[in-house]
Amino acid sequence: MSKVLIIEDEESIRRLMRYDLQSVGYEVDSASDGEAGLELALSNTYEVILIDWMLPKKDGLSIIRDLRSNKIKSILIMITAKDEEADILESFEAGADDYIIKPFSPRQLQARIKAHMRRLPSTTSTILKLGNLSIDRGLYEVFLDDELVSLTKKEYELFLYLIENKNHVLSREQILNEIWNFDYDGDTRIVDVHIFKLRNKLESSSFTIDSIRGIGYVLKICAD
Ligand code: CA
Repeated sequence: MSKVLIIEDEESIRRLMRYDLQSVGYEVDSASDGEAGLELALSNTYEVILIDWMLPKKDGLSIIRDLRSNKIKSILIMITAKDEEADILESFEAGADDYIIKPFSPRQLQARIKAHMRRLPSTTSTILKLGNLSIDRGLYEVFLDDELVSLTKKEYELFLYLIENKNHVLSREQILNEIWNFDYDGDTRIVDVHIFKLRNKLESSSFTIDSIRGIGYVLKICAD
């Protein structure tokens, strides 16, 4: 059974989310403040963690940063009433996989969780070797010259998508649709931010991710 953690201080919302998710078969834990939530998230394995931004003791953004720096690979969904673009981009930068603006319907929440779940890797691990890179598709891990490269889930998905389409130019819209599913008002800067991070993290790899002006990106294998 898939486990979900809800970190939300408003009791009515927390209860409602818990009830909705349990009714569709998830095992649900919940916490009402940031510190308790972080502790649960670090000591258990959850497929999905739903995190309210404004929380007592520790805010959602710091929780996401802490979880990512502790190599927690759960799907992290920020839930908040903040809908400024800067806030949305900031939470992606911190390592969130998705963002839901309050108020939201239970069906929207369930649909998003389901969409993310479909992307979870299967438990059988398959190693893909490409130049000085090896990719463990089961464990979500990428090694560069045998060193583990720390990628967020979105960076990893984006990287695999680029590899699967190597030497083919992918438009920002294609990437946005494939990796993010949902339409963030068509803001393709999320794609640019993630490409920028991938390039930095995979600098010494035998690939380049080239920008195609006005269109998008292409991953190319460098000649030895
Ligand atoms: Ca709150």
